[in-house]
Amino acid sequence: MKREINGKTKIIGIIGKNIENSLSPLIHNQIIFKYSLNFCYLPFKVTENDLSQAIQGIKALNIRGVNITFPYKEKVIEFLDELEESARRIGAVNTIVNNKGILTGYNTDVIGFKKSLQEDGKFIIKKKKAVIFGAGGAARAVVYALLEEEIEEICIFNRTLEKAKKIKQNLLPFFPRSNINIFPLEKEKLKDKIEEAPLLVNTTSLGMPPKIDNTPLPDEKLFHPNLLVYDLIYHPAKTLFLRQAERAGVKIINGLPMLVYQGIESFHLWTGLKPEGKEVLKMIKRIT
Ligand code: NAP
Repeated sequence: MKREINGKTKIIGIIGKNIENSLSPLIHNQIIFKYSLNFCYLPFKVTENDLSQAIQGIKALNIRGVNITFPYKEKVIEFLDELEESARRIGAVNTIVNNKGILTGYNTDVIGFKKSLQEDGKFIIKKKKAVIFGAGGAARAVVYALLEEEIEEICIFNRTLEKAKKIKQNLLPFFPRSNINIFPLEKEKLKDKIEEAPLLVNTTSLGMPPKIDNTPLPDEKLFHPNLLVYDLIYHPAKTLFLRQAERAGVKIINGLPMLVYQGIESFHLWTGLKPEGKEVLKMIKRIT
Protein backbone atom coordinates (compact mmCIF):
# COMPACT_ATOMS: atom_id res chain seq x y z
CA MET A 1 0.00 0.00 0.00
CA LYS A 2 1.18 3.52 -0.77
CA ARG A 3 1.71 5.36 2.48
CA GLU A 4 0.30 8.85 2.69
CA ILE A 5 -0.38 11.40 5.40
CA ASN A 6 -3.99 12.61 5.25
CA GLY A 7 -6.64 14.21 7.45
CA LYS A 8 -7.20 10.95 9.36
CA THR A 9 -3.55 10.23 10.17
CA LYS A 10 -3.01 9.60 13.90
CA ILE A 11 0.11 11.12 15.41
CA ILE A 12 2.39 9.33 17.86
CA GLY A 13 5.95 10.31 18.74
CA ILE A 14 8.75 10.76 21.22
CA ILE A 15 9.55 13.61 23.61
CA GLY A 16 13.12 14.00 24.84
CA LYS A 17 15.93 16.48 25.27
CA ASN A 18 18.48 15.11 22.79
CA ILE A 19 16.58 12.90 20.40
CA GLU A 20 18.54 13.46 17.22
CA ASN A 21 20.07 9.98 17.50
CA SER A 22 16.94 8.18 18.65
CA LEU A 23 16.06 5.05 16.70
CA SER A 24 12.44 5.10 17.90
CA PRO A 25 11.11 7.06 14.88
CA LEU A 26 12.73 4.53 12.53
CA ILE A 27 11.41 1.52 14.47
CA HIS A 28 7.83 2.78 14.76
CA ASN A 29 7.56 4.11 11.21
CA GLN A 30 8.89 0.79 9.86
CA ILE A 31 6.17 -1.06 11.79
CA ILE A 32 3.52 1.44 10.65
CA PHE A 33 4.62 0.94 7.04
CA LYS A 34 4.72 -2.86 7.34
CA TYR A 35 1.16 -3.01 8.69
CA SER A 36 -0.19 -0.20 6.42
CA LEU A 37 -1.50 1.79 9.38
CA ASN A 38 -2.60 5.40 9.12
CA PHE A 39 -0.23 6.55 11.88
CA CYS A 40 2.91 8.68 11.84
CA TYR A 41 5.64 8.71 14.55
CA LEU A 42 7.47 12.03 15.02
CA PRO A 43 10.41 13.27 17.14
CA PHE A 44 9.68 16.20 19.50
CA LYS A 45 12.81 17.83 20.92
CA VAL A 46 11.67 19.61 24.09
CA THR A 47 13.59 21.67 26.64
CA GLU A 48 12.96 21.13 30.35
CA ASN A 49 11.23 24.53 30.63
CA ASP A 50 8.79 23.58 27.88
CA LEU A 51 8.00 20.07 29.15
CA SER A 52 4.73 21.00 30.88
CA GLN A 53 3.43 22.81 27.79
CA ALA A 54 4.55 20.01 25.50
CA ILE A 55 2.56 17.48 27.56
CA GLN A 56 -0.52 19.72 27.53
CA GLY A 57 0.01 19.97 23.76
CA ILE A 58 -0.61 16.21 23.45
CA LYS A 59 -4.23 16.92 24.42
CA ALA A 60 -4.54 20.15 22.44
CA LEU A 61 -3.23 18.53 19.24
CA ASN A 62 -5.09 15.25 19.75
CA ILE A 63 -1.86 13.26 19.61
CA ARG A 64 -2.61 9.56 20.31
CA GLY A 65 0.45 9.09 22.54
CA VAL A 66 4.17 9.55 22.97
CA ASN A 67 7.27 7.89 24.31
CA ILE A 68 9.16 9.84 26.93
CA THR A 69 12.91 9.55 26.93
CA PHE A 70 16.06 10.82 28.63
CA PRO A 71 15.96 12.81 30.88
CA TYR A 72 12.22 13.31 31.48
CA LYS A 73 10.94 9.88 32.58
CA GLU A 74 10.50 10.95 36.20
CA LYS A 75 9.81 14.66 35.70
CA VAL A 76 6.90 14.03 33.35
CA ILE A 77 4.74 12.32 35.99
CA GLU A 78 3.46 15.53 37.57
CA PHE A 79 1.88 16.55 34.25
CA LEU A 80 -0.17 13.36 33.75
CA ASP A 81 -3.79 12.59 34.73
CA GLU A 82 -3.37 8.89 35.59
CA LEU A 83 -0.64 6.32 36.13
CA GLU A 84 -0.75 2.61 35.44
CA GLU A 85 0.11 0.66 38.63
CA SER A 86 3.68 -0.42 37.81
CA ALA A 87 4.58 3.05 36.46
CA ARG A 88 3.30 4.49 39.75
CA ARG A 89 5.43 2.10 41.80
CA ILE A 90 8.51 2.64 39.63
CA GLY A 91 8.10 6.42 39.58
CA ALA A 92 9.08 6.65 35.92
CA VAL A 93 7.06 6.81 32.71
CA ASN A 94 8.27 6.04 29.19
CA THR A 95 4.88 5.92 27.44
CA ILE A 96 1.87 8.22 27.50
CA VAL A 97 -1.51 7.24 26.07
CA ASN A 98 -4.08 9.92 25.28
CA ASN A 99 -7.61 8.56 25.73
CA LYS A 100 -10.05 11.33 24.85
CA GLY A 101 -8.01 13.96 26.67
CA ILE A 102 -7.00 11.78 29.65
CA LEU A 103 -3.24 11.22 29.70
CA THR A 104 -2.15 7.94 31.31
CA GLY A 105 1.51 7.10 32.01
CA TYR A 106 2.93 3.58 31.52
CA ASN A 107 6.37 2.03 31.87
CA THR A 108 7.13 -0.44 29.08
CA ASP A 109 10.90 -0.33 29.81
CA VAL A 110 10.32 -3.07 32.40
CA ILE A 111 9.04 -5.61 29.91
CA GLY A 112 11.53 -4.36 27.30
CA PHE A 113 14.44 -5.07 29.63
CA LYS A 114 13.11 -8.48 30.67
CA LYS A 115 12.51 -9.61 27.09
CA SER A 116 15.97 -8.47 26.00
CA LEU A 117 17.60 -10.45 28.84
CA GLN A 118 15.62 -13.56 27.95
CA GLU A 119 16.35 -13.30 24.23
CA ASP A 120 18.56 -16.37 23.96
CA GLY A 121 16.50 -18.22 26.59
CA LYS A 122 19.58 -19.06 28.67
CA PHE A 123 20.04 -16.22 31.12
CA ILE A 124 18.15 -16.66 34.41
CA ILE A 125 18.52 -14.07 37.17
CA LYS A 126 16.25 -15.71 39.77
CA LYS A 127 18.07 -16.04 43.14
CA LYS A 128 21.23 -14.46 41.67
CA LYS A 129 22.89 -11.04 42.01
CA ALA A 130 23.34 -8.01 39.77
CA VAL A 131 25.39 -4.82 39.84
CA ILE A 132 23.80 -1.72 38.34
CA PHE A 133 25.39 1.61 37.50
CA GLY A 134 22.95 4.52 37.78
CA ALA A 135 19.81 5.51 39.65
CA GLY A 136 17.82 7.53 37.13
CA GLY A 137 14.55 6.73 35.37
CA ALA A 138 15.95 3.80 33.41
CA ALA A 139 17.55 2.30 36.53
CA ARG A 140 14.17 2.32 38.25
CA ALA A 141 12.66 0.19 35.48
CA VAL A 142 15.66 -2.19 35.41
CA VAL A 143 15.59 -2.65 39.20
CA TYR A 144 11.83 -3.26 39.14
CA ALA A 145 12.22 -5.83 36.33
CA LEU A 146 14.94 -7.70 38.24
CA LEU A 147 12.89 -7.66 41.46
CA GLU A 148 9.91 -9.09 39.57
CA GLU A 149 12.23 -11.88 38.38
CA GLU A 150 12.97 -12.72 42.06
CA ILE A 151 16.61 -11.65 42.05
CA GLU A 152 18.43 -12.21 45.36
CA GLU A 153 20.43 -8.96 45.54
CA ILE A 154 20.89 -5.79 43.51
CA CYS A 155 23.85 -3.49 44.17
CA ILE A 156 23.27 0.03 42.86
CA PHE A 157 26.35 2.19 42.32
CA ASN A 158 25.52 5.84 41.66
CA ARG A 159 27.18 9.25 41.82
CA THR A 160 24.25 10.68 43.81
CA LEU A 161 23.62 8.25 46.67
CA GLU A 162 20.34 9.90 47.63
CA LYS A 163 18.75 8.87 44.32
CA ALA A 164 19.79 5.24 44.78
CA LYS A 165 18.41 5.28 48.34
CA LYS A 166 15.07 6.50 47.03
CA ILE A 167 14.88 3.59 44.58
CA LYS A 168 15.46 1.19 47.47
CA GLN A 169 12.85 2.92 49.65
CA ASN A 170 10.26 3.01 46.86
CA LEU A 171 10.65 -0.45 45.35
CA LEU A 172 11.92 -2.90 47.97
CA PRO A 173 8.72 -2.92 50.08
CA PHE A 174 6.94 -4.62 47.13
CA PHE A 175 9.57 -7.39 47.01
CA PRO A 176 10.54 -8.27 50.61
CA ARG A 177 12.40 -11.46 49.59
CA SER A 178 15.05 -9.54 47.64
CA ASN A 179 17.72 -7.12 48.81
CA ILE A 180 19.10 -3.81 47.48
CA ASN A 181 22.47 -2.35 48.53
CA ILE A 182 23.61 1.16 47.71
CA PHE A 183 27.18 2.33 47.03
CA PRO A 184 29.02 5.38 45.68
CA LEU A 185 30.99 4.90 42.44
CA GLU A 186 34.15 3.57 44.13
CA LYS A 187 36.43 0.85 42.89
CA GLU A 188 36.97 -1.27 46.02
CA LYS A 189 33.36 -2.19 46.72
CA LEU A 190 32.70 -2.55 43.01
CA LYS A 191 35.37 -5.22 42.72
CA ASP A 192 33.80 -7.38 45.48
CA LYS A 193 30.27 -6.97 44.20
CA ILE A 194 31.06 -7.59 40.52
CA GLU A 195 32.88 -10.79 41.50
CA GLU A 196 29.68 -12.17 43.05
CA ALA A 197 27.35 -11.16 40.20
CA PRO A 198 26.54 -12.75 36.82
CA LEU A 199 25.03 -9.48 35.53
CA LEU A 200 26.49 -5.95 35.25
CA VAL A 201 24.24 -3.24 33.80
CA ASN A 202 25.00 0.34 32.84
CA THR A 203 21.88 2.49 33.12
CA THR A 204 23.79 5.79 33.33
CA SER A 205 24.15 8.10 30.36
CA LEU A 206 27.96 7.73 30.52
CA GLY A 207 29.11 6.85 27.02
CA MET A 208 26.33 8.69 25.18
CA PRO A 209 27.28 11.43 22.68
CA PRO A 210 28.90 13.90 22.93
CA LYS A 211 31.04 12.30 25.69
CA ILE A 212 31.46 8.90 24.09
CA ASP A 213 34.78 8.29 25.90
CA ASN A 214 33.07 8.11 29.28
CA THR A 215 32.49 4.80 31.04
CA PRO A 216 31.05 3.97 34.46
CA LEU A 217 33.69 1.27 35.13
CA PRO A 218 36.92 2.62 36.62
CA ASP A 219 39.03 -0.46 35.77
CA GLU A 220 38.52 -3.02 33.01
CA LYS A 221 40.22 -5.72 35.08
CA LEU A 222 36.98 -5.93 37.07
CA PHE A 223 35.24 -8.01 34.37
CA HIS A 224 35.13 -11.77 34.93
CA PRO A 225 34.41 -14.53 32.38
CA ASN A 226 30.97 -15.49 33.71
CA LEU A 227 29.62 -11.97 33.51
CA LEU A 228 26.90 -10.71 31.16
CA VAL A 229 27.62 -7.02 30.52
CA TYR A 230 24.63 -4.93 29.48
CA ASP A 231 24.62 -1.27 28.41
CA LEU A 232 21.22 0.40 27.96
CA ILE A 233 22.81 2.82 25.48
CA TYR A 234 22.38 1.81 21.82
CA HIS A 235 24.01 4.83 20.17
CA PRO A 236 26.89 4.25 19.77
CA ALA A 237 26.14 0.54 19.23
CA LYS A 238 29.23 -0.30 21.30
CA THR A 239 30.05 2.15 24.05
CA LEU A 240 33.53 2.22 25.55
CA PHE A 241 32.10 0.12 28.41
CA LEU A 242 30.94 -2.59 25.96
CA ARG A 243 34.16 -2.44 23.94
CA GLN A 244 36.16 -2.98 27.11
CA ALA A 245 33.93 -5.91 28.08
CA GLU A 246 34.27 -7.44 24.62
CA ARG A 247 38.06 -7.12 24.81
CA ALA A 248 37.90 -9.01 28.12
CA GLY A 249 36.02 -11.83 26.33
CA VAL A 250 32.75 -11.18 28.13
CA LYS A 251 29.26 -11.57 26.63
CA ILE A 252 27.66 -8.17 25.88
CA ILE A 253 24.20 -6.74 25.09
CA ASN A 254 23.55 -3.17 23.98
CA GLY A 255 20.32 -1.17 24.37
CA LEU A 256 18.82 -1.99 20.96
CA PRO A 257 16.86 -5.16 21.92
CA MET A 258 15.38 -3.35 24.94
CA LEU A 259 14.48 -0.35 22.79
CA VAL A 260 12.70 -2.57 20.27
CA TYR A 261 10.84 -4.64 22.87
CA GLN A 262 9.69 -1.63 24.93
CA GLY A 263 8.71 0.12 21.68
CA ILE A 264 6.50 -2.79 20.66
CA GLU A 265 4.68 -2.66 24.02
CA SER A 266 4.12 1.10 23.59
CA PHE A 267 2.94 0.57 20.02
CA HIS A 268 0.43 -1.99 21.29
CA LEU A 269 -0.94 0.53 23.82
CA TRP A 270 -1.50 3.15 21.09
CA THR A 271 -2.73 0.95 18.23
CA GLY A 272 -3.92 -2.36 19.72
CA LEU A 273 -1.46 -4.13 17.40
CA LYS A 274 1.51 -6.17 18.65
CA PRO A 275 4.16 -7.07 16.04
CA GLU A 276 6.53 -9.99 16.70
CA GLY A 277 9.57 -8.63 18.62
CA LYS A 278 12.25 -10.85 17.11
CA GLU A 279 11.09 -10.00 13.59
CA VAL A 280 11.18 -6.24 14.27
CA LEU A 281 14.62 -6.53 15.90
CA LYS A 282 15.94 -8.42 12.87
CA MET A 283 14.50 -5.78 10.52
CA ILE A 284 16.03 -2.89 12.52
CA LYS A 285 19.43 -4.61 12.75
CA ARG A 286 19.35 -5.06 8.98
CA ILE A 287 18.79 -1.37 8.23
CA THR A 288 20.96 0.27 10.92
P1 NAP B 1 18.45 9.94 33.94
O1 NAP B 1 17.19 9.69 34.66
O2 NAP B 1 18.84 11.31 33.60
O3 NAP B 1 19.65 9.24 34.77
C1 NAP B 1 20.98 9.39 34.37
C2 NAP B 1 21.90 8.53 35.23
O4 NAP B 1 23.24 8.71 34.74
C3 NAP B 1 21.92 8.93 36.72
O5 NAP B 1 22.17 7.79 37.49
C4 NAP B 1 23.13 9.88 36.77
O6 NAP B 1 23.74 9.96 38.04
C5 NAP B 1 24.09 9.19 35.81
N1 NAP B 1 25.09 10.12 35.30
C6 NAP B 1 24.92 11.09 34.37
N2 NAP B 1 26.08 11.76 34.18
C7 NAP B 1 26.99 11.20 35.02
C8 NAP B 1 28.37 11.45 35.30
N3 NAP B 1 29.04 12.42 34.66
N4 NAP B 1 29.00 10.69 36.22
C9 NAP B 1 28.33 9.70 36.88
N5 NAP B 1 27.03 9.42 36.66
C10 NAP B 1 26.36 10.15 35.74
O7 NAP B 1 18.44 9.13 32.53
P2 NAP B 1 17.66 7.77 32.18
O8 NAP B 1 16.34 8.07 31.59
O9 NAP B 1 17.76 6.88 33.35
O10 NAP B 1 18.56 7.21 30.96
C11 NAP B 1 19.86 6.75 31.19
C12 NAP B 1 20.43 6.07 29.94
O11 NAP B 1 19.69 4.89 29.61
C13 NAP B 1 20.37 6.96 28.70
O12 NAP B 1 21.56 6.74 27.98
C14 NAP B 1 19.19 6.40 27.92
O13 NAP B 1 19.28 6.62 26.54
C15 NAP B 1 19.31 4.92 28.24
N6 NAP B 1 18.03 4.19 28.09
C16 NAP B 1 17.93 3.23 27.12
C17 NAP B 1 16.75 2.50 26.99
C18 NAP B 1 16.63 1.44 25.94
O14 NAP B 1 15.51 1.04 25.62
N7 NAP B 1 17.72 0.94 25.42
C19 NAP B 1 15.67 2.76 27.83
C20 NAP B 1 15.82 3.73 28.82
C21 NAP B 1 17.01 4.45 28.92
P3 NAP B 1 23.19 11.00 39.17
O15 NAP B 1 22.00 10.31 39.78
O16 NAP B 1 24.33 11.17 40.07
O17 NAP B 1 22.80 12.26 38.43
